[in-house]
Amino acid sequence: MMSKTRTYLDNNASTPLCPEARAAMVEAMDVMGNPSSVHAEGRAVRALIERAREQVANLIGARASEVVFTSGATEANNTVMAAGWDTICVSGIEHDSVLAPARASGAAIIDLPASTDGRVDLSAVMQPLSEAAAGEGKALLSLMIANNETGVVEPAADAIALAREVGAAVHVDAVQGPGRLPLDFASLGADFLVVSAHKLGGPRGAGALVIRDGVSLPAFVRGGGQERRRRGGTESVAAIAGFGAAAGALARETGAIERAAALRAELEAGVKRMTPEAVIVAQDSARITNTSCIALPGKAAETLVIRLDLEGIAVSAGAACSSGKVGSSHVLEAMGLPPEITRSAIRVSLGPQTREADIAAFLAAWQKVAGPAVIAA
Ligand code: PMP
Repeated sequence: MMSKTRTYLDNNASTPLCPEARAAMVEAMDVMGNPSSVHAEGRAVRALIERAREQVANLIGARASEVVFTSGATEANNTVMAAGWDTICVSGIEHDSVLAPARASGAAIIDLPASTDGRVDLSAVMQPLSEAAAGEGKALLSLMIANNETGVVEPAADAIALAREVGAAVHVDAVQGPGRLPLDFASLGADFLVVSAHKLGGPRGAGALVIRDGVSLPAFVRGGGQERRRRGGTESVAAIAGFGAAAGALARETGAIERAAALRAELEAGVKRMTPEAVIVAQDSARITNTSCIALPGKAAETLVIRLDLEGIAVSAGAACSSGKVGSSHVLEAMGLPPEITRSAIRVSLGPQTREADIAAFLAAWQKVAGPAVIAA
């Protein structure tokens, strides 16, 4: 349990477990049996997995048959990148779980440029991608739905239209989508889509690779043939049940996106009032409403994060959801932002549990750690 004196504003790194997910996990832990067994015990535990599959599919507008459970988004992204592409078109603003396996895959890389507003420029890759996809070339275009550091919403629908036109497959890292923007896999038309349980109220260590029906992807873990022969191994039943319950709860949630927008506006206005030199990265771009990337030129991001932490506020510096990482944000660098921004940017990310009092606590701490020194009269 988080202490009352703490204010948690790092929901893009991980959201708190919602009560529905917790209850489903506790219940699942007491259901014995192997989900592949044919007896009644096996069937009962299998039913928990299939119910979760329906709940996750329902949340993102997919069919249950399209959902493959994984250990998280990192595994799902790695799997798609390693599927034998000749060419992968990808932007430097992607998460490391896309970039690292894409670069290690041996595929030729087409760099999808991003501009200072945080959006990728698809027109720049139209020609090289169509050349790569011509003939026998297996080409993949990968684009996240919204950036985890800046919150900028990427043009996923345009990317899919472009890929279709040139004959490339499309992968969408939608980890920061559920609960933050409307998401419908069927109408989006991607071949592969990735989500993660712990970004939407579920447990850490569960995720899904959603593969459009009819799209072939070789088995990525071979063994007992689970997950329709794609990912062998006895399923992590409690984590999957928690993932499903969180997805179910989120599908019933209303108003969270608008609430976050109002709270973020208050937060950003307060920051600008106290520290006019602060830069809100990509403030004029379409952004998911829970995310604010704030740079304070002249201050090191990690110092801000540590000082805010000492004041009871949890935020992160750039992609600090990767272990122990400090320094400059690769996302902001790929956007072409100068070092005084890339080295001084912190990310504040709200969740459905965030309230006015949390924003007030953040602003009070910001005044202490970033504002001008208060001079006693
Ligand atoms: N993609 C994005 C955009 C993310 O924000 C994250 C989590 N930081 C991941 C992938 C990796 O997710 P997981 O923790 O489930 O491996």
